[in-house]
Amino acid sequence: MDKKAFERPYIKKLQAGMPSKFGMKPQVEPLTHIDDNGVADLIGEFGSPLFVISEKTIRETYKKAKHAFTTRYPKVQFAWSYKTNYLDAVCRVFHSEGSWAEVVSGFEYDKALLNGVKGSQIIFNGPDKTDEDLKKAVENDSLIHIDHFDEMYAILALSETLGKKPKVAIRVNMDTGVYPMWDRFGFNYENGDAWDAINRIMINEKLELVGLHAHIGTYMMTANTYKIAALKLADLAYGIEKKYGAHIKYIDVGGGFASQNTLKGAYYPGTDTTPSFSEYAEAISSAILNSNLDPRSLPTLILETGRALVDDAGYLLGTVIANKRLSSGNRATIVDVGVNLLFTSFWYAHEVYPAAPVSEHLEETTLYGPLCMNIDVLREAIAFPLLKKGDHFVVKRIGAYNMTQWMQFITLRPNVVMIDTEGRPHVIRKREEMENIRGQEQIPAHLA
Ligand SMILES: *Cc1c(COP(=O)(O)O)cnc(C)c1O
Repeated sequence: MDKKAFERPYIKKLQAGMPSKFGMKPQVEPLTHIDDNGVADLIGEFGSPLFVISEKTIRETYKKAKHAFTTRYPKVQFAWSYKTNYLDAVCRVFHSEGSWAEVVSGFEYDKALLNGVKGSQIIFNGPDKTDEDLKKAVENDSLIHIDHFDEMYAILALSETLGKKPKVAIRVNMDTGVYPMWDRFGFNYENGDAWDAINRIMINEKLELVGLHAHIGTYMMTANTYKIAALKLADLAYGIEKKYGAHIKYIDVGGGFASQNTLKGAYYPGTDTTPSFSEYAEAISSAILNSNLDPRSLPTLILETGRALVDDAGYLLGTVIANKRLSSGNRATIVDVGVNLLFTSFWYAHEVYPAAPVSEHLEETTLYGPLCMNIDVLREAIAFPLLKKGDHFVVKRIGAYNMTQWMQFITLRPNVVMIDTEGRPHVIRKREEMENIRGQEQIPAHLA
């Protein structure tokens, strides 16, 4: 039997098992395996820290979301939001499930093409599309979602030089009752800009208006905001039917469904408060089905869901470097996972689990990353068991936005592994090496 680690005595207020105003009873169940792979084995083979993605979870989550929508609306298409996680292996899982690609830069656009997505199944969003990007998108028959009038004029000019009729949609921003409103993207619904854009496209006939798009925000906590957005888009589509006798091919309600992570400062855990796919689907489909749109030619419903489809599939594994006492006497546990790898720790209270059974005594602990920066805090003052130097832990629900927004800072980025549906791990992004960084640098002759 192993000798038990010494834990200093302390006084603790008793808490019952029910949620109180201080939240839920703290949990310490360890998370020892991911899709049948032992956490310690994964770290032994691929190093620490380590990003792990469960292909099985991605596919299951996708199927759940798809089912929620296809049971409620006749024509549904998902488009994978590249910026949420554009590791090629991840994108290919979504594409193999039938997802199109949703991109917001020339770089992401090229990545989608390299992943084998047909040009006509790439949705090109965002405020920054260069003339070169637009030319490529027009030539490939991609769906260009216009953000502003300058972009519309650029596409009009291209349609003449290329002798093609570009397929476009307009991005519409609107008041959905959530503030601050995201009104910096696209054309406003309430002030008439959206109609101004529509009329310019419909009247000059050089562009084909195939869709209407909105992306109202991210981590939207109420399904009703989508109902309002879908109602307003359906209203525009109906107006187009009446005024021009033209049918809009699709209504794209964007992304933004909340994942089950808990926001910092939230009263209850995200697992209890975020709407389900069914609730979002019910709100959106009822808005379109009950609109005045011609039921014989209903538009396809496009969803650009990112976060809610991939967050649960991602884990970040790490190792304890040391424990120490702060001047306040509080425990500090220093780990090898920093905020440079876990960008979302700035707004989520991520769940952290020991990777092996531990003592049941919880003590207020702050988890610090390895960076020599005061801001490098993974979790502040959480009830946490004692993990010793060399012990492993798992941060849950980190699949969205971390593997695209991570920073190379002080340390190099670690391996990313995907566990396939048979339980076999594969490296899908190799750990960075000195040469990856130095290879980009150049020494001026006088310093050589
Ligand atoms: C970021 C983004 C998405 C995905 O948003 P999530 O919050 O990750 O679902 C979808 N569409 C557009 C236009 C985006 O910018």
